[in-house]
Amino acid sequence: MTRVVILGGGFGGLYTALRLSQFPWTDRPPEIVLVEKHDRFLFSPLLYELITDEVQSWEIAPPYLDILANTTIRFLQDKVTDIEAGEGKNQVTLQNNGTVSYDYLVIALGGQTPTNQVKGVDKYAIPFRTLSDAYRLKEKLRSLENSHKEYIRVVIVGGGCSGVELALKIAARLGKRGKIRIVERNDTLLRHLSPFNRKTASDALSKAKCWIDLETEVVEVKEGEVSLCYKNQIDTIPADIVVWTVGTKPAIPPSLANRLTLPTTLDGKIEINPYLQVFGMPHLWAIGDLAACQDEKGNRLPATAQVAIQQADYCAWNIWATIENRPLLPFKYQPLGEMLALGVDNATIQALGLPLSGSLAYLARRLIYLYRLPSIEHQMAVAFSWMTTPLTNLLKSLEVV
Ligand SMILES: Cc1cc2nc3c(=O)[nH]c(=O)nc-3n(C[C@H](O)[C@H](O)[C@H](O)COP(=O)(O)OP(=O)(O)OC[C@H]3O[C@@H](n4cnc5c(N)ncnc54)[C@H](O)[C@@H]3O)c2cc1C
Repeated sequence: MTRVVILGGGFGGLYTALRLSQFPWTDRPPEIVLVEKHDRFLFSPLLYELITDEVQSWEIAPPYLDILANTTIRFLQDKVTDIEAGEGKNQVTLQNNGTVSYDYLVIALGGQTPTNQVKGVDKYAIPFRTLSDAYRLKEKLRSLENSHKEYIRVVIVGGGCSGVELALKIAARLGKRGKIRIVERNDTLLRHLSPFNRKTASDALSKAKCWIDLETEVVEVKEGEVSLCYKNQIDTIPADIVVWTVGTKPAIPPSLANRLTLPTTLDGKIEINPYLQVFGMPHLWAIGDLAACQDEKGNRLPATAQVAIQQADYCAWNIWATIENRPLLPFKYQPLGEMLALGVDNATIQALGLPLSGSLAYLARRLIYLYRLPSIEHQMAVAFSWMTTPLTNLLKSLEVV
């Protein structure tokens, strides 16, 4: 039986597996194996909402066993430590389950936040990428909220989407007690976004009294303080929490990076052809944050869920077409727009040429993400929860239930 092994159960890997399992096959369908180190999928665009308790963790992080329950996909919870390709040795090595051979392989292991580039970041700063990062940040906030401190000082490093969305959620949670500061090394925040989204976000940050340090770099983080460099002057300021949202590097296991001769770019991403296949290795596909993918004009596509989900559709199709001897499709990226949460009950959207902000944008963003959640069963469970939770909370506050 033909076996397709998919490494990484994020937006690239999980969505490829789900698509592939839905195609019609002339002969026996291939065995689809999804390998992922965690037991739960994470819908990261809604991770910020955990900080303000606007969502519950089961809603944005459903277990794989639930998502895959009505499919033929085999789930292996394990960590990939090595990949071999070619010379009749097509296999991946897993930390606990030995080796798994494959006929076709999808590498979709995503990215990591580098925390070793500035002194003290790995020890004293909190990254914001995984569920455990969000729990760690929430716990730290909770213990500071229960302390006698008059103010809670939070320094957020990075003025991209993650930094700005997080700053506004933390500001909403802490209210007047919060002193939030965003540190950005460039001369503007959100420099890749449309002017409308940038302006709406900037207004929201002013309203929430977030302090912005532009053209400023973090040079060291220590317990309770952070050192900043602005125009060659170093200033050390107190900080109860430092959140590190800067950078992303491919999550390729070190043993793999050293041994497997995959073509990579200078920043370590895997080079792929227009069919999303690894250059020179037509039975290997690489998608998502770890693949260097370009649009038709040769511009590098951003590391976003939007890109990974669209790649998953093409990747699934091209694997199906390879097995069924059909023509492959070159990947065509359709930019669908930008959305940003701006605290609670506020967001900004620029999509299809239409700008939208405020409560309506907040609601639209929620509905779009609801539609993007994996599996219809999970979408329905979350929709029900989002409709009933406000009512339950109201009744609880009136002490009716
Ligand atoms: C807080 C946050 C907010 C974001 N918001 C947005 C947004 O609003 N819009 C947007 O478009 N994008 C957003 N992104 C970016 C988006 O999440 C990523 O671009 C997207 O997840 C990339 O998909 P992927 O499949 O490449 O990687 P991932 O979704 O990260 O999946 C990779 C998977 O591989 C697994 N894995 C890694 N290494 C191993 C290993 N060795 N063995 C086994 N499994 C492994 C990981 O556990 C993970 O589940 C956000 C990211 C973050 C962190």
